[in-house]
Amino acid sequence: MDVTEFKEFAQNMVEYIGHYLETIRDRRVLPSVEPGYLRPLIPDSAPQNPDRWQDVMQDIERVIMPGVTHWHSPRFHAYFPTANSYPALVADMLSDAIACIGFSWIASPACTELEVVMLDWLGKMLDLPVEFLACSGGRGGGVIQGTASEATLVALLGAKAKMIKKIKEEDPKIEDNAIVSKLVAYASEQAHSSVERAGLLGGVRFRLLPTDDEYKLRGSALQDAIHEDREKGLIPFYAVATLGTTSVCSFDNLDEIGVVCQKENVWLHVDAAYAGSAFICPEYRYLMKGIERADSFNFNPHKWMLVTFDCSAMWLKNPEYIVNAFNVDPLYLKHDQQGAVPDYRHWQIPLGRRFRSLKLWFVMRIYGVTNLQAHIRTQIAHAQEFADFVRSDSRFEIVGEVIMGLVCFKLKGSNEINEKLYKAINASGKIHLVPSKIKDLYFLRFAVCSRYTQSPDIRFSWDEIKYLAGQIIASSKE
Ligand code: PLP
Repeated sequence: MDVTEFKEFAQNMVEYIGHYLETIRDRRVLPSVEPGYLRPLIPDSAPQNPDRWQDVMQDIERVIMPGVTHWHSPRFHAYFPTANSYPALVADMLSDAIACIGFSWIASPACTELEVVMLDWLGKMLDLPVEFLACSGGRGGGVIQGTASEATLVALLGAKAKMIKKIKEEDPKIEDNAIVSKLVAYASEQAHSSVERAGLLGGVRFRLLPTDDEYKLRGSALQDAIHEDREKGLIPFYAVATLGTTSVCSFDNLDEIGVVCQKENVWLHVDAAYAGSAFICPEYRYLMKGIERADSFNFNPHKWMLVTFDCSAMWLKNPEYIVNAFNVDPLYLKHDQQGAVPDYRHWQIPLGRRFRSLKLWFVMRIYGVTNLQAHIRTQIAHAQEFADFVRSDSRFEIVGEVIMGLVCFKLKGSNEINEKLYKAINASGKIHLVPSKIKDLYFLRFAVCSRYTQSPDIRFSWDEIKYLAGQIIASSKE
């Protein structure tokens, strides 16, 4: 393909994307295809001779779109949002054109340097303590990870390296294995599954602790667990506090947890994967009270801050433990300026990394803080609209608190009737949501996900839920 054809192809694609996104509401949010639908639609093997780009374009509607779940439809209420915006799409085009692999400063200085500054911009937008920011001149700084799961694992590995180092300084003869077999990490039983998985990947014990009646981990539960484990000869070293849990969007009591972690010399990591974006609005920062006691903090602009996947922002007060934990330094990756600026390959698990800070830069500049705040506030207001509908119908009840863009709700009555409602909603395919269960309580989660959502969309989704609930209640009485 030459540049003339590229421009024509790309312009065509831009037209297609613009139309797709602006009319996304009109598509059925959940595809109705069966597993294996795609293979019969395309040839068995790659074409020997080139296809025309026009033919490839034609196949998008024929082959791909029938099997797409439209995450950016205002009818999509499943999981948590994944972000999308025009500035981020364009930034990713440029990133793909530069196509550098920014594992070290010299591998593409702009890739590293823009990331350092963008994580400072973003950290300031959240009013993170200065110890987390590179511009403070201290040790702290930020990095873009691919996902929150990676951030939790990277922090765990840093905490593990730190504790091993400390114990070996006290007792140089002790073997690493003897230490690792005693390490124990903590999170709430409401923490995301990736947190427990970080324990499995890191080869350490992980204890999931009970929450209070509002699904929050409290300092006392962590303190009790640490006491118990020390009595058993174990070594507490890492705790994860979740701000915005996946099931109900509850907020662990960071203020209490931080005090315990500091006293017990336990690394505190904060997972705010979804809700962290809301901290750009000052009125939600009370939820991260105590953040100054954390060692690492992470949230996903790719969930709720209009930056496309993947962009998971992580800050560390002292990246040294992580840098040292992963430091393998072959000659072919060395350069003369080492040490003057971060070599981000030491801050993450893979070697390769894309130029992801471009999309943060484009989004923050082209929206401005004011419009990013407006996006968060609008989505939370839509969640409140939905919650008001639920409250206005005596057959339903809300589960947990509605603070962010997630409303958990259920029909009053058994789990079975709610399972029926869930199945009916997704079978009809007009809207899409997912259920969750805490202890024995089964409920439905309604997340406001699309940046196209308007009040009539919330009404549409509620009408659909109400209609199907009416049918299920009527059939259960027959
Ligand atoms: N933590 C929380 C609280 C989440 O809600 C999620 C996903 O929704 C994750 C972690 C995992 O995020 P990622 O897909 O970025 O690893």
